[in-house]
Amino acid sequence: MSTSTEREWFGGQLIGMQRSRDGREEYPAVDSKTGDALPGRFVDATPDEIDAACTGAAGAFAAYAAVAPQRRAAFLRAICRELDAVGPRLTSRGQLETGLPAGRLEGERARTTGQLKLFATLIEEGSWVDARIDPALPERAPLPRPDLRRMLIPLGPVAVFGASNFPLAFSVPGGDTASALAAGCPVVVKAHPAHPGVSELAALAILRAAKETGMPEGVFNLVHGRSNEVGGALVRHPDTQAVGFTGSLRAGRALFDLAAARPQPIPVYAEMGSVNPVVLLPGALAERAADVAKSAAAAVTLGVGQFCTNPGLLIGVNGAELEEFAGEVAAALASTPPATMLYGGICQAFRGGVERLRGHEGVELLESPAAKSLSGPIDTPADSGQRGPNGAPTATAPNGPNDTPAYLFRADGATFLANQELQEELFGPATLLVACRDEAELREVVGSLAGSLTATLQTGDGDQELVKGLLPLLERRAGRVIFNGMPTGVDVGHAMNHGGPYPATTDSRSTSVGSAAIHRFVRPVSYQEAPAEHLPEELRDENPRGVLRMVDGWYTREGLRRR
Ligand code: NAP
Repeated sequence: MSTSTEREWFGGQLIGMQRSRDGREEYPAVDSKTGDALPGRFVDATPDEIDAACTGAAGAFAAYAAVAPQRRAAFLRAICRELDAVGPRLTSRGQLETGLPAGRLEGERARTTGQLKLFATLIEEGSWVDARIDPALPERAPLPRPDLRRMLIPLGPVAVFGASNFPLAFSVPGGDTASALAAGCPVVVKAHPAHPGVSELAALAILRAAKETGMPEGVFNLVHGRSNEVGGALVRHPDTQAVGFTGSLRAGRALFDLAAARPQPIPVYAEMGSVNPVVLLPGALAERAADVAKSAAAAVTLGVGQFCTNPGLLIGVNGAELEEFAGEVAAALASTPPATMLYGGICQAFRGGVERLRGHEGVELLESPAAKSLSGPIDTPADSGQRGPNGAPTATAPNGPNDTPAYLFRADGATFLANQELQEELFGPATLLVACRDEAELREVVGSLAGSLTATLQTGDGDQELVKGLLPLLERRAGRVIFNGMPTGVDVGHAMNHGGPYPATTDSRSTSVGSAAIHRFVRPVSYQEAPAEHLPEELRDENPRGVLRMVDGWYTREGLRRR
């Protein structure tokens, strides 16, 4: 792994094409595995710098919104090239700042460039603007119909909050930035303080791409901050017109409330806490309890459990098959070595949540040697004391400050139903098995669930009637319903929905993954009796871009014969 030096890092704000470093609140990037400071001192943006970034983005808006879709697509593709050009540095720094392995970071970069290219293709094709034309009907009685033409236009500058758990795909160059830029909106990103170096590298790549493709200055900006004030000021700024966020319920809700309290409220698309229930139906467990258990354990520990789609609830009906399932999950988790979480704060939050569950009446920590070896409080770096022959920690002994084993908890259906707090997301490698008395209680438990990004059904022979009853309940509670899989793994495509009812998001009508994410940062406008020369190309009679339009209620790519 290549190491960087202090001089390679700027650490300040990237405002338009300018660099600014006026603030005094400095902080280092931290090595996730050791807790040591890494090269580079980063500095909180000052109020003036935040203002400059937002007003700069607003200044770029008109010019950027007018950039032809083909040129905007070229910009998105140039970002991909620039990200790939700094790929090795993104990976080596990312490993240090997040503790994620090189393969995961490289895969995440491919996902990030893949989603940028998806948006490039979408805007080149052009039909996403949902053009609709109601030609004039001057003879209509009792009133003539005016010529009305409607399409989606960009909202304006978007504030994006980078997430800690995906330093690329949900961070500076991630889906929020990609969809906002594709829509024609300038972006101001608040870098996540857990990976400021990766954020700087990615932001510089975007700015190089902007320069190379002739985008207006101010189209992209990066501000750093380790205090809530930076993010708050960004959301309060009058030029900010929408917010994209991924992170905790607490922060997402705070930003949503802040945006609603502005003189001009703005939409906040926050993706927050989700428990992603997996419902284990009797037929599935009878057929393949051990297999389902293995894939559940793999999903719980994937990425050290730090996925928004981590299955935090496993729900089944008491019986021998559920016992077999529970035993297999516990064994699989116990044999999974402790691993490093993203940063100290997230690890502390996880340990606090585990402590709360361990102390919760009616909740049991199931047999899991790695987890049980942590006797006593676990709010300090844990070390089970287990040592191999050479004195080195064994696979089950956490040894880094942010290392954790995985946990399986169990509660019965009645305890779960009586304790709403058991529905709260525990972000990390842990899951709660809810063992229901019978199928009626299972239905009651499912009916009590709050909103989630996903809901999964494991089904087998004889489960059809149960599925028919549960599916309507799950559809109302989740943005994606999965059959016989696991919720981790979110494909980036056109049909993906990565959203869901509150508290999974602040707006269940949207997705933060896939091409439909572009709809968060646009609004419709209708032009009535507008002269042809003042209409956007997509609404002109001849349909020069050949987009699919609704003309008088029918979809067609053909132009209008005469106007
Ligand atoms: P976070 O605490 O929600 O922070 C995300 C971003 O929001 C950071 O840039 C943070 O900046 C900012 N922020 C937080 N509170 C704010 C406030 N009151 N006002 C303005 N800005 C604020 O998320 P995190 O650090 O990534 O992880 C913490 C917890 O979030 C985890 O333990 C987990 O529970 C949850 N999480 C969920 C998901 C998901 O996909 N559902 C993903 C990641 C994390 P500052 O640090 O500068 O305040």
